[in-house]
Formats: sequence, C-alpha cells, structure tokens
Amino acid sequence: MTSEPVRVPQAVFGGGEFWRRLDRLADDRGHQGHTRWLVGESEPDNWYKLYCDRCNLSIVEMIVDR
Ligand SMILES: [Zn+2]
Repeated sequence: MTSEPVRVPQAVFGGGEFWRRLDRLADDRGHQGHTRWLVGESEPDNWYKLYCDRCNLSIVEMIVDR
C-alpha cells in the first residue's frame, strides 16, 4: 500500500499526541500488537517511516516540517 507522506510539525514530532495518533493509525491499518519502529532516513534527514517488524513493511511515511 502506498500513500502520501504525512507532514508533521517539528513541535508535534515525538510528543505524546504524536505517538497516540501513530498508534491509532497503525491499529486502523491492521497492525494491532505488531512490533513497530520509527525509522529515520539520512537523506533527507527529516523523512521518517513507521515500520512494522512483523509485516515487514512501512505503515506510513512522514516528513517533519522544521
Ligand atoms: Zn503489521
């Protein structure tokens, strides 16, 4: 499944609401209980992926607005 990256303001990134929204989104897409990792790209370095270890895929991609 491909989808547009989500834009995340720097002030929101990494906060409690940020994680709640990520968890809800991942659950909604069928990844309840799966181990998930937030993976940062080095180029560009404000691009992140929420990666599902069990499904071996990227759940959502996001760009942090700095
Ligand atoms: Zn999964």
